Amino acid sequence: MTARIFLAFIFMASFVSTVYGEHILEDAILAQLYSHHDLSIKEVHDEKYYLNPEKVLISDEGLYLCSDHFGPLLMQHLFQDNQGMFVMAGYYQYQCNRCSKIFNSKPSACDRCGGTSFSPYGID
Ligand SMILES: [Zn+2]
Repeated sequence: MTARIFLAFIFMASFVSTVYGEHILEDAILAQLYSHHDLSIKEVHDEKYYLNPEKVLISDEGLYLCSDHFGPLLMQHLFQDNQGMFVMAGYYQYQCNRCSKIFNSKPSACDRCGGTSFSPYGID
């Protein structure tokens, strides 16, 4: 009986990741949301993309932005200031601390120098 419940849980977890985990919010998608006037984006100031709070979903799987165009998008970060919640364009690139190679997502190891230390790239 315990094993059966465990299997059911695994199935649900993979189902949820299929539904919600398909897209990760990144710069290319942010730009498209903005150009399509997606309701999930309230306004843009420089690199800050302010989010419509009604479109932000907090779940056990993480933070999601529920966009009209792409459905739920997994957010890797979320900031807030006195104008609301926002994500930062340019926050999704990482730079190898040893050889300075740029990656679009954080790798476990640099494929050029083998370094394992990375810093967010593109924000000052
Ligand atoms: Zn490197």
